[in-house]
Amino acid sequence: MLAVAMLQIVCSAVLADGRSTVEQLSSRFQSLSVDHGWQSDTIYTYPPEHDLAIRAWRTAQRGEALWILAGIHGEEPAGPNAIARSLPSIIELAASGVPVVVIPLCNPKAYRNNWRYPNTPERDWRKGGYSVGDAEYLLPDVETGARPRAAAPVGPETRALTEFALRLAESYPPLLVLDLHEDELSAEGGYIYSQGSQAADNPVGAEVIRLLQASGIPIRQSGRTRFDEPIVDGVISHDDKGLPIRDGSIDELLAATAMFMNGAKTPGPSARTVLVVETPAFAGSKFELRVAAHSAVIQRLRELWRLNSTMR
Ligand SMILES: [Zn+2]
Repeated sequence: MLAVAMLQIVCSAVLADGRSTVEQLSSRFQSLSVDHGWQSDTIYTYPPEHDLAIRAWRTAQRGEALWILAGIHGEEPAGPNAIARSLPSIIELAASGVPVVVIPLCNPKAYRNNWRYPNTPERDWRKGGYSVGDAEYLLPDVETGARPRAAAPVGPETRALTEFALRLAESYPPLLVLDLHEDELSAEGGYIYSQGSQAADNPVGAEVIRLLQASGIPIRQSGRTRFDEPIVDGVISHDDKGLPIRDGSIDELLAATAMFMNGAKTPGPSARTVLVVETPAFAGSKFELRVAAHSAVIQRLRELWRLNSTMR
């Protein structure tokens, strides 16, 4: 009981940070359809009593696209709130002819609960939590590449989200992917993960780091993450062994050149650039500052898209 009471105290304190509710966010995102003619898709629906769904919005125009994901982890609210506040920048880029896919709140159930995972308040994944973005059942095994890394999707949302992403990638091939996260264990600063055909020295990644820094987020310039990955000027492009990042996530999937579908190895979505933006969200960090940092990235989409287009 004490633990439950403590949790409630922690949650109510965190939720007083100014973040929008799921309903407020959803109504903002839905304006993409209502006011701007975007198409919306329901990826996954929770039982009716939860009144929750994972949804995507996409431009009518298809083709090589910008993808924006956020809210994979429910206790990382800055990304979804930044998207809701910066929709005009996304709409403007789309109006200039760039196909766009937005999945702005990938884990609404955990967002509502201020949990990391949809199925448990435990933050430690070893205690039964699964990620809605886990793509290991589609990604090649690390050692041999000859079979999938996992036998099955870890949860129903996970299956729905990854299958939806792959289906959509056929008509909206991801060229640039931004996945907005936060790191509540980092008190030292922000950083990004970079994957794709030019993971290191990626000009889009360098610009994102500059934007985070300019908005007041300290950046981890060097050293190593808690997973021993080297950080170079705020960017993590390789794992502790110098190999490409293989975190088993939907980000790795969107960057993957090979994957498994129904037991057969096939080409993956092969996004040129996949950036996972991580703002430091330790207790005591300022929510508004973190939202402003993610918003600065979104407000610069036109330039990020241009930089990505120059990398052939
Ligand atoms: Zn995260």
